[in-house]
Amino acid sequence: MPRRPQADPAAGREGEMADAPMPVIFAGHGSPENALGSNEYSLEWKKLGRELPRPSLILCISAHWVIHEGTAVTAMRTPRTIHDFYGFPDELYAVRYPAPGSPEGAVLVRDAVRSTEVEGDYEWGLDHGTWSVLSHMYPEADIPVIQLSLNYHHPPGLHFRIGQELRPLRHRGVLILGSGNLVHNLMMLRPGAGPYPWAEDFDLTVKMLVERGDYPALVSYPDLRNAGIAHPSPEHYLPLLYTLGAAGNDAPRFFSEKIFAGSVSMRGIVFGGQTG
Ligand code: ZN
Repeated sequence: MPRRPQADPAAGREGEMADAPMPVIFAGHGSPENALGSNEYSLEWKKLGRELPRPSLILCISAHWVIHEGTAVTAMRTPRTIHDFYGFPDELYAVRYPAPGSPEGAVLVRDAVRSTEVEGDYEWGLDHGTWSVLSHMYPEADIPVIQLSLNYHHPPGLHFRIGQELRPLRHRGVLILGSGNLVHNLMMLRPGAGPYPWAEDFDLTVKMLVERGDYPALVSYPDLRNAGIAHPSPEHYLPLLYTLGAAGNDAPRFFSEKIFAGSVSMRGIVFGGQTG
């Protein structure tokens, strides 16, 4: 695979000294309908967009781009808006998030990741894990956005490791955004009701481990109490591991500390940065 010298993360050491690292965010995206109008979650995302230093590029790891072979990064100039859900109001299918892509950003990611090969992708685009949050954070859609896929078969430790390898990009103005949910069981949804005890337990366990910086326990999440019911499938948890890897020792700040419809945690985390 050809390499471009300016995309070597180790080459930017002087710049790293000069530029404060961008924060890293984990967002609990919840229902695609959070893209419409405003509610308590979207208001938090809007606030983040106003408060954080403005990124030059956004790299999103979304629960909704799961692949079974290799690892891919979107590399097209004009990513499409993907409506990857069924049975929602027409209004939601009309939403477009016309942010540009960044072939150059894709090269940065490809060259930063050493533990697995990353290939450029020209088919995907921006799925609702990405645009439901960014349409509130950056409504003008004027910052380039790329997505990194989740390989379903990678062990949790490899997702974390890739996150660590992405960390130097924070010194180049890249905002790393993991978009999933810390508890996600759609079969158990009960709108209007309070959280299930197991949902609250898993959400608070994750919070406590993040506060302690106990990343090994978070990487070994299948061993945590209630992990099986909190995550019948892993894709909404895995974006957290990228954000932990990229965050390093940066202190966390939590937002949207709520459980939606009993079984979906909307908790978000900002690591580092200049936020209150
Ligand atoms: Zn989702």
